[in-house]
Amino acid sequence: MLAYIGLGSNLQDPEGQIRSALQSLYASPDIQLQQSSSLYRSHPMGAAEQPDYVNAVAKISTELYPMELLAILQEIERQHQRVRTGERWGPRTLDLDILLYGDLEMHTKALQIPHPGISEREFVLIPLQEIDENLIIPGKGGLLGLIEKLPQYQLTRLASPDVGPQS
Ligand code: ATP
Ligand code: CA
Ligand code: CA
Repeated sequence: MLAYIGLGSNLQDPEGQIRSALQSLYASPDIQLQQSSSLYRSHPMGAAEQPDYVNAVAKISTELYPMELLAILQEIERQHQRVRTGERWGPRTLDLDILLYGDLEMHTKALQIPHPGISEREFVLIPLQEIDENLIIPGKGGLLGLIEKLPQYQLTRLASPDVGPQS
């Protein structure tokens, strides 16, 4: 199954956190890292008094079920000192979200796929476009149509990640 993972960090060397998380995905035995986007800098969505984020998207293939994949992603977050404060969109060393899982649509409390924020978030849509601009987001339509509806971008492209088979 092909899946797309959204990565974000705004604490403790965010670029390093994202590169390290990509390495963790690459090294995970049940995950094959197919491709990773460039790294991007974005402004925070929640409380404004927090540092900018570094974001990226990874395309993976896996035979894990969605909940198993989420458990592995949360384990990688823990390995990167993610502390859950309960504050939504608060600062964090690492956030890993399942954006897409094949053409699956699921809406449980623990897991919503496609990720509900996908269609409004430039820091997700632009890196996705870099990987596969013909993507269709189940229930939401074509990626390019969603990008056209975005307000002005505030995203800065940083370096390409030097990890995985694409590098
Ligand atoms: P957002 O989900 O709006 O980006 P967030 O990433 O800050 O916010 P978290 O605190 O990281 O939110 O996650 C809260 C819960 O969201 C997780 O415990 C998880 O069970 C649930 N969740 C639901 N759908 C997904 C998904 N597609 N990917 C990752 N977590 C999800
Ligand atoms: Ca998130
Ligand atoms: Ca999350």
